[in-house]
Amino acid sequence: MNSKEIMDLTEDNCFHVYNRFNVVFDKGDGVTLYDVEGKEYLDFASGIGVMALGYNNKEFNDAIKAQVDKLYHTSNLYYHPALADAAKKLCEISGMDKVFFTNSGAEAVEGAIKTAKKYAYNKYDRSGYGIIAMDNSFHGRTVGALSVTGTEAYRKAFLPLMDKVTFATYNDYDSVEAAIDADICAIILEPVQGEGGVMPADKEFLQKIRKVCDERDIILIFDEIQCGMGRTGSVYAYQDYDVKPDILLTAKALGGGLPIGAFLVTDKVASSSLVPGDHGTTYGGNPLCTAAVKASIDLMLKNDLVGNVNSLAPYLESKLDEVVDSCKCAIGHRGKGFMQGIVLDDSIKASDVVKTCLDKGLVVLSAGGNVLRLLPPLVISKEDIDKAIEIIKYSLNVT
Ligand SMILES: *Cc1c(COP(=O)(O)O)cnc(C)c1O
Repeated sequence: MNSKEIMDLTEDNCFHVYNRFNVVFDKGDGVTLYDVEGKEYLDFASGIGVMALGYNNKEFNDAIKAQVDKLYHTSNLYYHPALADAAKKLCEISGMDKVFFTNSGAEAVEGAIKTAKKYAYNKYDRSGYGIIAMDNSFHGRTVGALSVTGTEAYRKAFLPLMDKVTFATYNDYDSVEAAIDADICAIILEPVQGEGGVMPADKEFLQKIRKVCDERDIILIFDEIQCGMGRTGSVYAYQDYDVKPDILLTAKALGGGLPIGAFLVTDKVASSSLVPGDHGTTYGGNPLCTAAVKASIDLMLKNDLVGNVNSLAPYLESKLDEVVDSCKCAIGHRGKGFMQGIVLDDSIKASDVVKTCLDKGLVVLSAGGNVLRLLPPLVISKEDIDKAIEIIKYSLNVT
């Protein structure tokens, strides 16, 4: 089948819930994707922050293949070695105490909400608790996750969602404090907002929230589904901010491309919240996906991907300065590590720039607030950055 036939067949049969770009990807290698016609694309999107190791990493693939030949499903009724290994490694690198594996990011958010509610229920012997979330946040598309997602367009057709969610303004501590009352059991936020427009938190904002959560026994949930696993220059972004959450959410890059997420809790939360019977999932933490977690953590550490982010991020940012200087429509850039956004004015649409870049052989993303979003694999080189920046500059000037 040629690309036209593949696109038509897809549209004939798949529920039209995505507007896909006119490209049919066939394979990947390193930081390069190939379409079915053999055209090359430099990937600065990583399948939305998933392919941190790049494509076709031999050690990663070998680990998955070995697990396929042994066991890929057994259910959570039984023990298996891959879960034991992955759980230990993830607790170690995240600095958290206990982990629950899920199948997606949204499902990790759901688990965190239930955990926070159960913690308050145990502690204060009542239900009826609410949650504070942030404007412009993104936590996923399931009903619970959507309830704490602060983007009106995603929500309005599905109201009423989960009750008692209050939205505060990101990086405005007073708005958070104003939303706190005796019914609040949790605050959820992304240390670096992704879909909402690539917005890093101010350190002071997170510190003040941590303090009020301690004073009021409120559970602090950090959604690091996009910004975690090395992307921002520390394994988890909270480690660089030096503000530790009570519940940490991770997914996207966690499985190196296989679908897996997790929520992690401190001992304080684990010892007084969910117990057997409260929560579960058929696939979550299956042998195949946990083998992928183990391999992706091993390779992130062995190849010092966090070191690569920290050594190249200043260069990437200096090149983004050049973009802002040379393209009238680019009014600024912001981000952390390899999670960067170029803010565009209203003379141009980020989604159109994404199309031009794609034509020119560069895969990038857009984000809310008319931002061009870059989430490259963590293995990129200086030369990859140079090539991407050339195409971005060209695309901003011709779109
Ligand atoms: C992608 C994302 C999610 C949702 O993850 P899914 O795997 O798509 O369900 C939640 N939070 C953040 C910050 C994300 O970037």
